Order: sequence, then structure tokens, then C-alpha cells
Amino acid sequence: MVLLLAIMFVAVSAIALVLWLPRGIGAALNRVRRVGPYAASATANALHRRLLVADLHCDALLWRREVLHRGRWGHADLPRLVAGNVAIQVFASVTRVPVQAYRMERVPDRWDVITPLVLLQGWPVATWTSPRARALHAAARMDAAVRESDGQLVLLRNREELERFLARRAVDTACCGALLSIEGMHALEHSLDNIRVFFDAGFRMMGLMHFHDNEIGGSAHGAASEGLTPFGREAIHLMERTGIIIDLAHAAPRLIDDVLECAARPVVVSHTGFQAICPGPRNLSDAHLRHIAEKGGLVGVGFWPQAVGGTDVAAIARAIRHAVHVAGVPHVALGSDFDGAVRMPFDASGMPLITEALLGEGFSESEIAAVMGGNLVRFLKETLPAAA
Ligand SMILES: [Zn+2]
Repeated sequence: MVLLLAIMFVAVSAIALVLWLPRGIGAALNRVRRVGPYAASATANALHRRLLVADLHCDALLWRREVLHRGRWGHADLPRLVAGNVAIQVFASVTRVPVQAYRMERVPDRWDVITPLVLLQGWPVATWTSPRARALHAAARMDAAVRESDGQLVLLRNREELERFLARRAVDTACCGALLSIEGMHALEHSLDNIRVFFDAGFRMMGLMHFHDNEIGGSAHGAASEGLTPFGREAIHLMERTGIIIDLAHAAPRLIDDVLECAARPVVVSHTGFQAICPGPRNLSDAHLRHIAEKGGLVGVGFWPQAVGGTDVAAIARAIRHAVHVAGVPHVALGSDFDGAVRMPFDASGMPLITEALLGEGFSESEIAAVMGGNLVRFLKETLPAAA
């Protein structure tokens, strides 16, 4: 009898642990320094409510949390984005991360940590081994959320949808536009045909790299960190012809050089920090920052400590000051990395704190409007494809 009870206790504990794990891991990796509600000054709040706020990167689709419901952990979901007056959020799909990614440099492509996460979260069988299937699953989750949102969450796939959304957002701040992106084009699984497959699934931005070198070229964290491969060159041309925005976050310096040389259209670096204020393998040099701006590109300033060299909101504002100083106001945007396995000063509902910190840095209202979202909205108007 005692043995039977012991076996039952162990079995129930094991099941409870497995059910709890995805949530426990997600909550532990995506903490905030202070939980909301967040109080910005009345002046900052009033200005923030007049802004069109847009953010270039979040990884909310990776975790077991509903995009439509306010989560008790992590950083971004529709209710918190709306509370933070975020009009447009780019949602990225993470498809493979080697276990040694924590090293940040010379990361070998071994032992993917997304596989156990996918298994624990009960994703479809196809996603157990395939980065391509994981990206398509993220798009399917977004589609389902958009359908269930009663028009509150709007997928942005072309200029017409963007214009329609912006007209509505001007009178209804309870809605949020979503743009789909992929983090790391190993998701192509060696086939250029998958660019069209991803486009048809709704993806409009592609980050070439994540934590390991892939068939496109070198990651900032990679074992070799090379430039663009012949396959990568073909992929760039095809992405541009298809109407995909190229994202150089996590790219090796040589890859950034090669892409800037061969890309015909402006690129983004969706979430990054800067070498000049915080040295690190994945942060941009001032030379690259300048070169990306010269090509008409846009750089999203990250909110996490290894990007901006500090843990508070003031550090984010100082990093924005640096980016503006080097690249110019029109080329700087927000690239939070909400839910990107980083610890944040606040969650998405705390966005007015950034407006407050930018006022504190001495930025004018028009500069703040541009950085907080105006620049990204302009960039999307210029680069999203026309409706088919
Ligand atoms: Zn990232």
C-alpha cells in the first residue's frame, strides 16, 4: 500500500513538473525588474498617448502564453501592448538555439534547446525536428490569434493593410498591428523555395542570423562568423524581389558588410546594442550604424542590459541618444526584444517610461515621435509590398 502510494506520488509529481516546466522556464527567463502598473509623469503620459508607437522585435510567440490574454509573466501580449499604447509590434519566430548560446561567441551548432521546449509545449509533430515547421507554426498561432481577436489584433502584410490599419488606429487605440518575422534563416532548410512559402504564410521580415552560422552566412555568435555565402547572396536577391525586409540582427560584421554591398533596398537591424557604449559580439559598431543609415536603413535599440550597458530606462534613452548622434533621428527605432529570454526594466505596458526618459534626455517632441514609432511606420510604408 505504502509502495503504491509512493509510486502514485512520484507519477503525479512528474506529470505536474512536465506541465509546469514550459511556463516555469518562460517565466524564469523573461522577468522584469519591476512589475507594473508603471507611473510616468503626467507630461510624458500625455505625449505618449499622442504617439504612434512601434517596436521592431519580440519573441512572445515562442512561449506557452496566449497573445490575446494578459499574461502573469513575460513581457508582451495584446492587453499589455495596448496598455503601453503600442500600435505596431513585430513578432519574431525563433526556430533553433544551440545550448551553448549563453557563451555569446564561437557557439557551435549543437544541441538545440528549442527542441525540448517544443516537445514540452505539445507543438505539432512536424515542429519536433524542423525549423521551417516551427516558423510556420508560429504564423499559424498568429493567424488564430488574429481571427479570435475580434479585429483587435491586425496582421500587416502589405501597404494597403497598413494604411487601413493606421486610419483605424487614429480613432481606436485598442487595436494593435502585428508584423511577422523569422529569427535566423536556417529555417529555409537549404531551399530558396521556402522564401515564397514563408511569404505566403504572412512573414514580411527575415532576420538572416540567430545564434549559429547558417547556410546564408556568419552569425555574430558563430563558430566561423564568415560573410555571405553564394546561397545567401541568391537568398538576399530573392527576398528583396519577393517583398521581404532583411534584418541584420545577430549578423557577423563580415556578413553585414556583404549584405550592405549587395542589397538593393534598405535593411533593418531589428534589435541591437552599440559597441561604443556596450562592447559585445552582437552589438553594432559606429561604422556599421552609419553605413546602415546611409543606405536608408533602420536600427532598433534593444532594452536589455547587454545592449544598452545598464539595467534602467535611462540607459535605454542614452543608447538611443548615441544611435541618433551617429545615424541621425530618421534611422533610429525601438527594438525591445520583449520575451527574448532577457530581463527587462518593465513589460510592454511600461512603454510610457521610454517617452519619459527621452524627454529627460532632452529630445524634442518631434524627435521622440520619430524614434518611438514614426520612423518604423514610414519605413514600412516604403518597404512593404503592394497588395497582390
Ligand atoms: Zn535576438
